[in-house]
Amino acid sequence: MILDNIIDEIKKAEDIVLLTHETPDGDAIGSSLALYGALKQLGKNVDVIIPECPSLFQFLPWYKEIKKEGKNNRYNLAIALDCSDIKRLNGFAKYFEGAKIKMVIDHHGSNTMFGDYNFVNPASPACCQILVTVLEYLGAKIDKKIGECIATGIITDTGGFKYSTIKAETFEFVAELLNDGVNISDIYRKVMQLISKKQFELRKIAINRMEFLEDGKIAFTYITKKEQEDLKLDIGEHEGIVELGRDVAGVEISIFMREQADNSYKISFRSNDYVNVSDICLMFGGGGHPRAAGCTINLPLEQAKEKLLSQTRMYLK
Ligand code: 5GP
Ligand code: MN
Repeated sequence: MILDNIIDEIKKAEDIVLLTHETPDGDAIGSSLALYGALKQLGKNVDVIIPECPSLFQFLPWYKEIKKEGKNNRYNLAIALDCSDIKRLNGFAKYFEGAKIKMVIDHHGSNTMFGDYNFVNPASPACCQILVTVLEYLGAKIDKKIGECIATGIITDTGGFKYSTIKAETFEFVAELLNDGVNISDIYRKVMQLISKKQFELRKIAINRMEFLEDGKIAFTYITKKEQEDLKLDIGEHEGIVELGRDVAGVEISIFMREQADNSYKISFRSNDYVNVSDICLMFGGGGHPRAAGCTINLPLEQAKEKLLSQTRMYLK
């Protein structure tokens, strides 16, 4: 069984590198740090590499251990967490490709199975939930610190326990974390509710220009590179904007475009009931989950918008 192989390889490896997807979210960071803590507990040499980590997550244990570069390209074992595609490891695929053994632990249905061992469960609402099983088999103790990392991934990837992806066992795991002393309500507020003043200003811009198209079934908005520069935004401070459109009555799909440093647009898609937005994003070389997905488009604003909308319309009932 694949889990047996995964456990065997982790136990054998001495020198391990943990990697996750670009523009990392709570599940990406939570799963990386939870596994980091567990592997340290088992006496391994571990590097956790996250090039651009939002400071929002600095309350997490081992945040200060995060490295921006690895020590070499020849780790015994590389583990990619919460990452569906080697392209999303960005410039950090070199650590993955250079490692003797390559492992993928993920929950994206669009995962391209790019490792030697791929432990991928699209039925799991968060990569952190898969890790609970992996850590149990590894014989690592899920203590309060590891629990805080796991809770962060579960809370963020379920939209605060509200997505339909959530399972009864998700609540069972979280109940155990509460018993172990993890302050769920504090983590919830930090990762789901608290926003900086700059984020508030950015949301005002995005809301002001939000359009409702196709009888109000599509919400569309964007932010430019200049607006982000003017506000001196930190990494990850655009998170949450795409959800604002989805929460309006009658909207099935929310689309948010964010201009990047190289003038391309990073696109976020969300849906409510029936549109599989991962399918739409796959057409543009991206991917994700049925109700939350993304892609990148290298076109000027109006052309990118028209291209996205003409695809999206076809999915509406
Ligand atoms: P977000 O809109 O929050 O950036 O991403 C939503 C979901 O889609 C996440 O699970 C994320 O990993 C995935 N995703 C976002 N952008 C891409 C992309 O360019 N390629 C793939 N394969 N997945 C993406
Ligand atoms: Mn995830």
